[in-house]
Amino acid sequence: MSQVKLIVSNWKMNLNFIQTRKLINGLKKIKFNSSTTKNIICPQFLLIPLVSELIKKTNILVGAQDCHQNTAGAFTGDTSVELLKKMNCKYVIVGHSERRQYHNETDDIIKQKVDLILSFGIKPIICVGESLKDRKNKKYTKVIKEQLSNCIPFGLNNVIIAYEPIWSIGTGLVPTIEEIVEIHDLTTNFLKKSKKINQLNFLYGGSVNADNFMDIMQNTNINGALIGGSSLKINEMNKILTFC
Ligand code: PEP
Repeated sequence: MSQVKLIVSNWKMNLNFIQTRKLINGLKKIKFNSSTTKNIICPQFLLIPLVSELIKKTNILVGAQDCHQNTAGAFTGDTSVELLKKMNCKYVIVGHSERRQYHNETDDIIKQKVDLILSFGIKPIICVGESLKDRKNKKYTKVIKEQLSNCIPFGLNNVIIAYEPIWSIGTGLVPTIEEIVEIHDLTTNFLKKSKKINQLNFLYGGSVNADNFMDIMQNTNINGALIGGSSLKINEMNKILTFC
């Protein structure tokens, strides 16, 4: 199991150019151990060139929040992984529940994106997670296994999974340690057995802040977090990165 921690900021559709400069300037001042922690910022597409420029010669990495599943073509409004690579993106988030919900992304599309991203030598951060209804009906393990089964290629050397229960995103509700551990174990065992994947980086995402981050990292052996709202707050990021 990798000991490296991945701290992935999902800025979503937030920040203008001035706010971006300010937040990156703040992030640059945070002293963290970059041999054990990766600080990955995923801004909206139009901010990527600026962020990519601002983080040159720093220990901050840039990623994207999505890409199209085809290399190029008549796909109005979409962005190619080829240009993301040119912009120095090392990671792409795929299958975020907001993409699934608002853009009707299916597991099949997500799998195509994962394959394409990998073919460009970029690391996909693949999101899975159940709805509140699935959790209440005790269908969550079935739903997560289905997502893993459909979205993850067979035999990868290494995979990054972000477990983001939909009911936790932006709500302030966070699963218990036991619930996170259950999904971590389920994911590890499922990927080993059905996909022959032995190296897993398992991230938790959903209402992460500095306090619950410390609790989760102290009481599980997961590999980091995907952070939305708190990633826009320099004080929260300072505590999270220096704790790692
Ligand atoms: C997310 O949307 O990826 C996320 C984790 O959001 P938040 O931290 O705001 O719940």
